[in-house]
Amino acid sequence: MSRQREEVAEALRKADDIIIASHYNPDGDAIGSSVAMAYLLRALGKNVAIYNATGMPRTFDWMETPCPVLTELPRGYSWVVALDCGDLARTGPELQRSFGDYRTINIDHHLGNPEFADLNWVKTTYSSTGEMVARLCDHFGVDLSGPLGEAVYTALVTDTGYFSYDNTTTRTMRVAERIMELGLKPGPINARIQNQWTPARLCLMGNVLGRAEMRMDGQLGLIRITRRALEECGADATDADGLINMLRQVRGVRIAVSLREDGPEEIKFSLRSHGDTNVQPVAAAHNGGGHKNAAGGTIFAPMEEAAGILISACREVIAG
Ligand code: 5GP
Ligand code: MN
Repeated sequence: MSRQREEVAEALRKADDIIIASHYNPDGDAIGSSVAMAYLLRALGKNVAIYNATGMPRTFDWMETPCPVLTELPRGYSWVVALDCGDLARTGPELQRSFGDYRTINIDHHLGNPEFADLNWVKTTYSSTGEMVARLCDHFGVDLSGPLGEAVYTALVTDTGYFSYDNTTTRTMRVAERIMELGLKPGPINARIQNQWTPARLCLMGNVLGRAEMRMDGQLGLIRITRRALEECGADATDADGLINMLRQVRGVRIAVSLREDGPEEIKFSLRSHGDTNVQPVAAAHNGGGHKNAAGGTIFAPMEEAAGILISACREVIAG
């Protein structure tokens, strides 16, 4: 029995009012684990709210939730549980500022999580935070049926690339199996998760992927999602999500780098790799973080300067 998990479960059992928070610009795991946690805590009779600094992304607006996803912290709550946040800054400025006013819990699966809460359950062997919430459901005897199961399933498939990445374990598959045994049909939910592209995204794919830059005999690939490309395509940041995964699929690529121009000197970067090639330290060295094969962060510099910094850092990783 994990002591960290036991302590977190005990605290959740005792708490009455709980805000569930996850990282801004949430992905399927951040949203899925939040929604699953909300159903779990509701089942335990708690008063819960879901908070996310940037709210429910349009690509997940189909998800059934027990309460709305708030973009402002509600009043009258004494506990916060942060899900899928590799560090406190990931919760966004509002919660980062007021975190000390609450009793706090951190449930996460990222490498290098500094255990920023009063109680921390951080375990990198879980595929996703959603899988950790499923573990808590087992602890409390709450089954993974209905919308709770759908939320966990969404977290699992989005963080494992539909059970294709190295983080997929037999436990991940067993959780998915149990959700399916309780009635979830993978076809319709996978379709809802996957079929969210816009014509602007197609335009962006052509523009950005068509200009991919390959280095080191094709071992390092880099794409730039410039303001100009976004404007020309009428695209937003959500339309740019995941383009990097296609670059990683190019034969011979060991590290894929994506640079998104959020401002003239604000570059959101993403890194992807395969197998033992670890990109987390590169992101961590630039105020970011993540996992061995998927990491990210922000560099406050012009596009070409950020590109240069990441190319040389990734070159070192590839050279070993
Ligand atoms: P993405 O490249 O899709 O934004 O993120 C890949 C992984 O890196 C995710 O696990 C995400 O949580 C993590 N990540 C992305 N940006 C940051 C960041 O600014 N700080 C930290 N700590 N982790 C990040
Ligand atoms: Mn995650």
